[in-house]
Amino acid sequence: MFIENISKENPRRGFVEVICGSMFSGKTEELIRRLKRAKYAKQKVEIFKPKVDKRYDNENVVSHDDNVIHSTPVHTASEILPLAINIDVVGVDEAQFFDNSLVKVCNHLANKGTRVIVAGLDMDYLGVPFGPIPELLATAEYMTKVHAICVKCGSLANHSHRIAQEETLVMLGEKESYEPLCRLCFSSLYPPLISPEGTSSEKVESQKTL
Ligand SMILES: [Zn+2]
Repeated sequence: MFIENISKENPRRGFVEVICGSMFSGKTEELIRRLKRAKYAKQKVEIFKPKVDKRYDNENVVSHDDNVIHSTPVHTASEILPLAINIDVVGVDEAQFFDNSLVKVCNHLANKGTRVIVAGLDMDYLGVPFGPIPELLATAEYMTKVHAICVKCGSLANHSHRIAQEETLVMLGEKESYEPLCRLCFSSLYPPLISPEGTSSEKVESQKTL
């Protein structure tokens, strides 16, 4: 699915890869697949995730099928820099919860020769581009958009529709709180947000709520 840089001339040539998509699209599974292959190649691998993500375990990146890789929770993106010295491949999971300083951190690491693989939600539950992901997509060398399956019609889904009604600032949930929907099914639920006349203030409000 993804062709790594296999140049023998400069094994420390860095670059940024972004894996994005909705919930239930397999982002973390794809991140883990790439990191495991790097580990098999005897490369030094470290994984970081924001401390806000407490859904599973504080010490591990855990995908939905219990495929586990050890990780380090950090409060801010800048904490990654001293921990990534002499690391060949840096993985970042749930990247949407970092602020935009993650973009500079990832590009700094790549400039120094590190392969950086970032996984995160590209849109929040209202379909608004999420946190640092848009800027990461613009500056990365490689990007992969993965899709879930729409629970209503079976098409490819790119939206994470929130089923639960809670209004907490950052709401992390699993299947009981969200469902994957395709463009058509999502737009039938949120026509004002999809239309060009939709109120932008609503969209701004939603930035930090998924
Ligand atoms: Zn659908």
